[in-house]
Amino acid sequence: MVALNRFDDYQIHFNRPCLVGKELHYIAQAIHFGYSAGDGVFTRRCHALLEQELGVTKALLTTSCTDALEMAALLLQLQPGDEVIVPSFTFVSTANAFVLHGAHPVFIDIRPDTLNLDETQLERLISQRTRAIVPVHYAGVGCEMDAICAIAASHGVVVVEDNAHGLFGKYRNRYLGTFGAFATQSFHETKNFICGEGGALLINDPAYSERAEIIREKGTNRSRFYRGQVDKYTWVDIGSSFLPSDLLAAFLFAQLEARTEIQTKRKRIWEYYWNHLIDWASVLGIRLPIIPEHCEQPYHMFYLLLPTLDDRQALIAHLKSCGILSVFHYLPLHLSEMGRRFGGKEGDCPVTEEMSDRLLRLPFYNDLTEADQSRVVSALKEFKLVSTKMIPVQMPVLSQSEA
Ligand SMILES: *Cc1c(COP(=O)(O)O)cnc(C)c1O
Repeated sequence: MVALNRFDDYQIHFNRPCLVGKELHYIAQAIHFGYSAGDGVFTRRCHALLEQELGVTKALLTTSCTDALEMAALLLQLQPGDEVIVPSFTFVSTANAFVLHGAHPVFIDIRPDTLNLDETQLERLISQRTRAIVPVHYAGVGCEMDAICAIAASHGVVVVEDNAHGLFGKYRNRYLGTFGAFATQSFHETKNFICGEGGALLINDPAYSERAEIIREKGTNRSRFYRGQVDKYTWVDIGSSFLPSDLLAAFLFAQLEARTEIQTKRKRIWEYYWNHLIDWASVLGIRLPIIPEHCEQPYHMFYLLLPTLDDRQALIAHLKSCGILSVFHYLPLHLSEMGRRFGGKEGDCPVTEEMSDRLLRLPFYNDLTEADQSRVVSALKEFKLVSTKMIPVQMPVLSQSEA
């Protein structure tokens, strides 16, 4: 028998997909319209909403962020031996999508404060073969885009933002996802806005728009045909099927329309953890997230950095004994089985290796109640560190807008 719930052992889950209300109504409407394939009414509504709100040239829904990254790889027309710089501290897809289309991944370490790629190491890693840099806005906190874009431009390298965490986050008052030639979004059930599995490719350089439509539609010019720009559609380039059903777009549109409501809930949850944990964390030498003044975060996650791996593992076990599911991530990509095939070895990305051991994510989802959060906070405060190692903590500065 299939278990109905993967997390029955836990009273407080790490994540729960939350509905805002109109999802089923919009899906019923899509069915009523008699069109459930890709690029129907709701897909077009999602595109328009993202394009208008973010101010991007083009938004194209995809079946996942992974697929949007693959589309970016195809648009780059990578040749064997081409290199793409990706953080080691990220989800597999950030690197895999480019490797699948012929690139050699070059892993870059992260900054100890935001856990975003360390832009001061870019110059050292760029070679004649570098084609792209893929900044991941970790937890939706912007990477140092001024420096990254300047370095990329001076070497003729394309920037592809993996913005899976960062929809509606801002860097220097400008939306994340609007800096690179492309940016990718995820609507996987663990992200702020969801439709089960889904994603989007955002395009900021109009030179790529038409080919992106073709790649997304199996290598055909069907999009031009629908717009009446050609009188029949045919095979014009390589491509695949990257477009989601309009039923998923209908679900997603309900979520995107309710973005203010969703983000207000997430802000409250993030600030509750912050306000109830900041003193406790300072005393124990546990570090909380750092949000630089010039970044507006979209409240994607709340994490702790424990002094050591042993402390992190002990805390996960302690929370489990209190019925609370907490999780860690990411295993450094340069030390994974695949990463090692590309030459990755211990010591290549020391900050990544350390943070990967120390990081723990607390339960975080739109409908997490204050009562449950209060239980998480009490459980944390009962915990005793197992290590005696006290590392000096750089205390996070909270910007005025979040205080
Ligand atoms: C979730 C995530 C992805 C993958 O998103 P999918 O929509 O599941 O393909 C890629 N990159 C990062 C940083 C992510 O967090």
